[in-house]
Amino acid sequence: MKNAEIIIIGGGVIGASVAYHLTARGAKDVLLLEREAAQGFGSTGKATGGVRAQFETDINIKMSLYSIELFENFKELTDTDCGYEPRGYLFFATDDTQFDRLKRNVEKQKSLGVKGVEFVDAQTISEIVRGLNCDDIVGGTFGARDGFINPLGVLEGFTRKAIENGAQIQFETEVFSIKTASGKVKSVSTNEGEIECETVVLCAGAWARSIAQTAGINLPVEPLKRQIVWAKSENNLQENLPMVIDLGSGFHFRPAKDSLTEILFAYPDQDETPSFDTNFDESFIPKVYERAKHRAAFLYETKVVRERCRAGLYENTPDHHAILGGCAIENLYFANGFSGHGVMHSPAAGRAITEIILDGEAKFLDVSCLSLARFATGKLLHETAFI
Ligand SMILES: Cc1cc2nc3c(=O)[nH]c(=O)nc-3n(C[C@H](O)[C@H](O)[C@H](O)COP(=O)(O)OP(=O)(O)OC[C@H]3O[C@@H](n4cnc5c(N)ncnc54)[C@H](O)[C@@H]3O)c2cc1C
Repeated sequence: MKNAEIIIIGGGVIGASVAYHLTARGAKDVLLLEREAAQGFGSTGKATGGVRAQFETDINIKMSLYSIELFENFKELTDTDCGYEPRGYLFFATDDTQFDRLKRNVEKQKSLGVKGVEFVDAQTISEIVRGLNCDDIVGGTFGARDGFINPLGVLEGFTRKAIENGAQIQFETEVFSIKTASGKVKSVSTNEGEIECETVVLCAGAWARSIAQTAGINLPVEPLKRQIVWAKSENNLQENLPMVIDLGSGFHFRPAKDSLTEILFAYPDQDETPSFDTNFDESFIPKVYERAKHRAAFLYETKVVRERCRAGLYENTPDHHAILGGCAIENLYFANGFSGHGVMHSPAAGRAITEIILDGEAKFLDVSCLSLARFATGKLLHETAFI
């Protein structure tokens, strides 16, 4: 029977970050198992590539602060460009309740050390994004260090460095179950046979729940389809467009990477119900354009680039926060449930799990509020700034 000290299940951005952080701390016998023939076929390859510290909860803000700093230094750490571009995130409110919430969030963000975040009135918003219909906008917030990253660049960098540090990746290896004995991890069973191990880190994204179940653990992570419409404008768009988000409806758009004419837009479709469906649904296009029409001619007058439209899965938890840490089974750890923020939070998540495994707790940042136990004790978190 094969064996490895630490097995990571899932080679998306989270598994890669865990492998990077573990091996950077000297862990040698790390084996990452990925069921596909290559990386990037899960949610990581579908992500919009947004990164921001504009959240409501302390933990989300702190994870972003750590992660943004790491993205700034990503090239030196991994010899790979993660494409971090601080173009800014503009959140806007269309009523006073939303605006008050944004204002409270900004105060919190500043108190935790977020730089370059400020309130903006409707006039300023109309200057930041020329051509935006601001008639119904009460105000908003702009975070200058927020912006974009390239999800596949982050995935590649973490993976490359983890391998250089001694981690191994085994593709086309699907984990069927986690086997335990006397309340401890013993092995994983795969299509390539059983692999003995001391420790398992489950990083299987939206697919994690059924794997956790094989060890008798209920991991409340649900898959939910999220779609992106990719469109092209005849004329050049404004240079340096930020990410723009309507807090009330969740409608948002960003320019495509390295393009002055292409743009991505989306919103959280309330008609979606949990499923593993990742087929792009044509009926989403008119729904998005309906919202675009109200907001700006430069959005509405674009043409859909059908072959670039895509659908992927959010891996949602009941309180829209990640699950990081161990459980009742000794040496079984979870890094799951990022609820739409897994790429941007992958640096902090990888470091946190590494410290929990090697040191017993995450010392650089207290992530205990993200434990699986919170769902049993009812200590749920409350984030309003999610889309
Ligand atoms: C449309 C869309 C837009 C998004 N936009 C953003 C954004 O702007 N910013 C952001 O931070 N996040 C965004 N996200 C969320 C982000 O993509 C996820 O949170 C993140 O990719 C999760 O990474 P992961 O490694 O946990 O999961 P994944 O990338 O899904 O990786 C999980 C891996 O596990 C493998 N796997 C599954 N089951 C098994 C098994 N049994 N055995 C072996 N391998 C297995 C899968 O093949 C996959 O490669 C977006 C998501 C979507 C869908």
